[in-house]
Parts: sequence; C-alpha cells; structure tokens
Amino acid sequence: MLIDLKKKHRKEIYSQVHSNFINKLLNLQGVKINKISHEDSFIKIYIKTNPREHTCPACGCLTSRVHDYRNQLIKDLPLQFKHVFLVLRKRRYVCSCGKRFYEHYDFLPRYNRMTKRLFAMNLLKLLV
Ligand SMILES: [Zn+2]
Repeated sequence: MLIDLKKKHRKEIYSQVHSNFINKLLNLQGVKINKISHEDSFIKIYIKTNPREHTCPACGCLTSRVHDYRNQLIKDLPLQFKHVFLVLRKRRYVCSCGKRFYEHYDFLPRYNRMTKRLFAMNLLKLLV
C-alpha cells in the first residue's frame, strides 16, 4: 500500500516536471497544457489558463464569475514540419451588471486566429 502511494506520488511529480518542460517549449506565459495530439500533418495542443479577476468592460467592476467556455482554434508556429494548432479553452465571464465578455490573452491579438509570433513570422517572410 505504502509502496503504491510512493509510486503514485513519484508518477505525479514526474508528470508535473514533464508538463513544465513542455510549457517551456511552448513558451506561452500563464498557459497550461491539457493534451497534445499528433496527426499526420498537424499537431493539436490543448491549452487553458487559470481563472482570474477581470474588470468588466461595461461598468468597471471586478468579476471572477465564469459564464461559460468555448474552444478556439489558433494557428501557431510550425513544429517538426507540421502545422501547429492551439486549442484554447476560452473562458467567458459574467459581471453583476449582466455584461458577458471573453478573457484577454497576451499571446493572442484580439479577434485573430493566429498567435502574435506566427503573425510576426509571416510578416518577416513578406519582407525577405
Ligand atoms: Zn459590469
């Protein structure tokens, strides 16, 4: 029993360390990786962020009440000659005034379907 617990604990620590390395490789701040799936021509990386308090864009009050979630597909820089898509579990908050709004992400320009770094790479390709 005790050995089983130790084994489980070691496994958890290993998986935490492992997940930290993958996070560093991805290099997106505040993002946690849930799952990675490799397909023939693309890689899908399922990510999420921690909930935090947000200022309501309508009334300026602080809220951390989550309304719902939606998955958004975001194209990122290619990896191992494969397209990379981030599947972001986007969180929508609701304020006491009734306003509903999506979380803001630093790595994602508003309304865009690709990361800032992919946008920058495409821009560089145009200049060369
Ligand atoms: Zn509000």
